[in-house]
Amino acid sequence: MAENINLVAALKKYFGFDTFKGNQEAIIRNLLSGKDTFVLMPTGGGKSLCYQLPSLLMDGTAIVISPLIALMKNQVDAMRNFSEEDGIAHFINSSLTKSATDQVKADIMAGKTKLLYVAPESLTKEENVDFLRHVKISFYAVDEAHCISEWGHDFRPEYRRIRPIINEIGKAPVIALTATATPKVKMDIQKNLGMMDATEFRSSFNRPNLYYEVRAKTANVDKDIIKFIKQNEGKSGIIYCLSRKKVEELTEILLANGIKARAYHAGMDSATRNGNQDAFLKEDIDVIVATIAFGMGIDKPDVRFVIHYDVPKSLEGYYQETGRAGRDGGEGQCITFYSNKDLQKLEKFMQGKPISEQEIGRQLLQETAAYAESSVCRRKILLHYFGEEYTEDNCGNCDNCLNPKKQVEAQDSLCAV
Ligand code: ADP
Ligand code: MG
Repeated sequence: MAENINLVAALKKYFGFDTFKGNQEAIIRNLLSGKDTFVLMPTGGGKSLCYQLPSLLMDGTAIVISPLIALMKNQVDAMRNFSEEDGIAHFINSSLTKSATDQVKADIMAGKTKLLYVAPESLTKEENVDFLRHVKISFYAVDEAHCISEWGHDFRPEYRRIRPIINEIGKAPVIALTATATPKVKMDIQKNLGMMDATEFRSSFNRPNLYYEVRAKTANVDKDIIKFIKQNEGKSGIIYCLSRKKVEELTEILLANGIKARAYHAGMDSATRNGNQDAFLKEDIDVIVATIAFGMGIDKPDVRFVIHYDVPKSLEGYYQETGRAGRDGGEGQCITFYSNKDLQKLEKFMQGKPISEQEIGRQLLQETAAYAESSVCRRKILLHYFGEEYTEDNCGNCDNCLNPKKQVEAQDSLCAV
């Protein structure tokens, strides 16, 4: 029955949107027909709707496994806004008291709850597994599915236990969703979730409005950055640094140069950190200087530049972090400062880690170095990394296409003569 439903009407009714984005509709139909579904879609593409809408249309409760408590709460609040029904969406995680958890369970048993968000560490708890065994499950959604893989940028060992637990609770279709589309991560997810036969939906990861540039990092890097920001006055930007110490130092330097900047890293107390984040979102400040702790789930559409002060640890991370620029489709300049010294520092840093982690870390780093040092179109390399072929000769929006290396070399030799 659900297969023939008018999905556009349902979209309008429940979410107020007029049309689906990308291949949302095909994804939803696939899930409604009871098939396992694998979704590769860039951040901001609209993955949540691919499980939220079907959960409302199917019998039973959908279980959504999601890694971040803060994101979970946002999504549940958003779902509740769409519905007059009490208890339509709930979450279970370590932040809930016993009585709050009991209320959630009562709503589920009363058949009110269509969507239950669960943190992986709560899903593995015996009492929750026992409870869920008695619940009619419509399907399982594994959001941020790359957390399953050590090749992803956010490996979480609990994610590896999802499949055995699903088997214990009771089988139902699985939809896995991620914005991390490298072939290695994809394979890990499919193997781990036992969904080799899933229907795959992949959207392009190209972001035509993002300009990619790699600059040599010299002793003048701070001056270069200040100059860049002054040339882009009034625009919002993020500067990523690898260490907390560097975040604080650079913030001080920018402030001393009259730039409205603030710091963000996980070592700050949460009130200050959140205050700084809000100041950035509300545009009280222009620049946030941050470690990679900043950004996940933050939806500021008009970030105009993302600067990497230090070389990113992986191309995947680089893509995600630069991806926070130009979400509205407008200008997004992505400038990375690159030096061999940084690379060596990172490699040394890895030596303290377990061997398997070192190997993965080194390979990821080498891929980043190859990207930085290449004279090939940046977009082409990035998309190739995600298993996507970019066939244009000139993307017209990266340093290598706008300033082919050959020319630069020719000029150099002219100067030398
Ligand atoms: P992702 O998880 O892929 O990063 P989200 O699910 O957070 O993306 O969605 C990104 C934004 O797109 C949200 O603000 C969401 O409300 C919006 N969105 C999703 N689907 C549609 C649609 N069909 N029409 C308009 N906006 C949509
Ligand atoms: Mg998402």
